[in-house]
Amino acid sequence: MDETSPVAVLRLGHRPGRDERMTTHVGLTARALGADRVILPTAAGSSLETVREVTDRFGGPFEAETTDAPLGILRGWEGAVVHLTMYGQPVQDVEGAIRERARSTPLLVVVGAEKVPFDVYEVADWNVAVTNQPHSEVAGLAVLLDRLFEGEELEREWTDADRRVVPSERGKRVDSVEE
Ligand code: SAM
Repeated sequence: MDETSPVAVLRLGHRPGRDERMTTHVGLTARALGADRVILPTAAGSSLETVREVTDRFGGPFEAETTDAPLGILRGWEGAVVHLTMYGQPVQDVEGAIRERARSTPLLVVVGAEKVPFDVYEVADWNVAVTNQPHSEVAGLAVLLDRLFEGEELEREWTDADRRVVPSERGKRVDSVEE
């Protein structure tokens, strides 16, 4: 896509213990696939730490923060809201309209953990399904972001990184980045 306004990802719900890895992966996926910011529930402090550490090591820009009022953020959002849910409209039917809107207005992408309050379905500009089958918020987020950015996020350059992975046919090569 040519240009986008900022894209933020809001994680709704987090069950300490059970959701640690999923919430962390929501943050890491948001960062890796082109969002500008992730907002996690306060209970997800260790996920926040991990996302920030990865950003420090592998670069940004990317913001990670917590909130104790995720529904307040959603209701007060000045922009468009996309809620990922298996009950929504197929992503392939609405991606063009979302992309168009994202050219001029900040986008909030909402992903759930446990049962999502019905309010969210009403506040959202789009309830979007990545297939109408149950799966994972991480998978849904990845597909949505890739459709939104039309693959351009894969070419992204990172700034302020300490290290950089050098793509290899085999093995693992990571270089230190000298400023
Ligand atoms: N059972 C919960 C409910 O009915 O609200 C959802 C649990 S699901 C594991 C957690 C999150 O994954 C959902 O809130 C949604 O954001 C995302 N998700 C799961 N399947 C999806 C799909 N097919 N399309 C888009 N998002 C999906």
